[in-house]
Amino acid sequence: MHALATDLYPLCRSITGDGLRESLRRLQKLVPLEICEVKSGTQVLDWTVPKEWNIRDAYVADAKGRRVIDFNQLNLHVLNYSVPIREKMPLAALRPHIFTLPDHPDWVPYRTSYYSEAWGFCAAQRVVDALPDGEYDVVIDSTLAPGSLSYGQLVIPGETRDEVLLSCHSCHPALANDNLSGMAVAVALAQQLAAQPRRRFTYRFLFIPGTIGSICWLASHEDVVPRIKHGLVLSCVGDAGGFNYKRSRRGDAPIDRAVAHVLRHMGVPHAITDFVPYGYDERQYCSPGFNLAVGCFMRTPNGKYPEYHTSADNLSLVKPDALEGSLAAVSAVLTVLEGDGCFRNLSPKGEPQLGKRGLYGATGGAAQLPGFEFALLWVLNFSDGSHSLLEIAEKAGMPFAQIRSAADALLAKGLLEAA
Ligand code: ZN
Repeated sequence: MHALATDLYPLCRSITGDGLRESLRRLQKLVPLEICEVKSGTQVLDWTVPKEWNIRDAYVADAKGRRVIDFNQLNLHVLNYSVPIREKMPLAALRPHIFTLPDHPDWVPYRTSYYSEAWGFCAAQRVVDALPDGEYDVVIDSTLAPGSLSYGQLVIPGETRDEVLLSCHSCHPALANDNLSGMAVAVALAQQLAAQPRRRFTYRFLFIPGTIGSICWLASHEDVVPRIKHGLVLSCVGDAGGFNYKRSRRGDAPIDRAVAHVLRHMGVPHAITDFVPYGYDERQYCSPGFNLAVGCFMRTPNGKYPEYHTSADNLSLVKPDALEGSLAAVSAVLTVLEGDGCFRNLSPKGEPQLGKRGLYGATGGAAQLPGFEFALLWVLNFSDGSHSLLEIAEKAGMPFAQIRSAADALLAKGLLEAA
């Protein structure tokens, strides 16, 4: 996962353009992703797909021709979506077009101007402060022209058409945690799911430019939307911080309960917060006209770490073991969703005699799990067709896997049926 982030880091991604397209092509080497193109000017819900932005070079050069700000050295140096410019101007005229971070004078900020045409540079405060007065060559060799918006889509079919949506934004340039970490974990998760012998759900992965990408997808997939039963937006999953889960707008959807359950039983530092209508693409999936059961899975949330949207959100901020931990947590959540369900106790009058069926005090197999007999009693008592196994696990204070294995044992003995 870290190697994938390293591979993608130098590409100048944006909400459209070849940097985004090339990033998706590199993912195609790892998973059978489909790259979809939506033409500039297409109406999507209340939005219009913008012109396509491409950039070849950008710099500010001093009188001696030395590049004092250079896009080739770091792609954050240009205001993302800058219109082209090629002019000589005094520092005083250039200065209002340079964005800096006075509080972090060595960091380069990440700034965009997607929906209003502008040009600009981003640079370290220390570099800008050292620029002498004089004339500078200001060059942004970009194009903003009709083209298309690209996004990646991967569908891994399961036994049912009910879907789990996993979505990550793929539109930021050299930012590692906010962007590349989510893409890397999503790819690893897709590989893991594709390798499984069976899946109940169909899994749909989206690698999309933030906001406009999910709006494009929703606008063109209204037929798929009702089949999405659970979903997660993955973002900022590579830093060393604890987990943060932002609930879906529904607040108590199975995905919300599954994530809370998994994080509690993993025994790791975590926080769970209610939905708010800002953040990532959960804003679109959870807009009231869709109201999907999609939460946002993160480590340190957007805007809550100093390196966020700066050059310091780089490959050293993202740790391989943090990516691994995020993958393991999300994978455990999907295991819960796959295994959850409602069942009916077929011997509900009094407790069925478990001993004579080899389920009580038995040896061998799942029965050796600690608490297995308690788990049997929990499943039998609450399997009335309306309590899901996850709800029973929560009531029992037991890990889901233990409740699931008790249900499997009861199913095998004919004491339970799917409700
Ligand atoms: Zn961001």
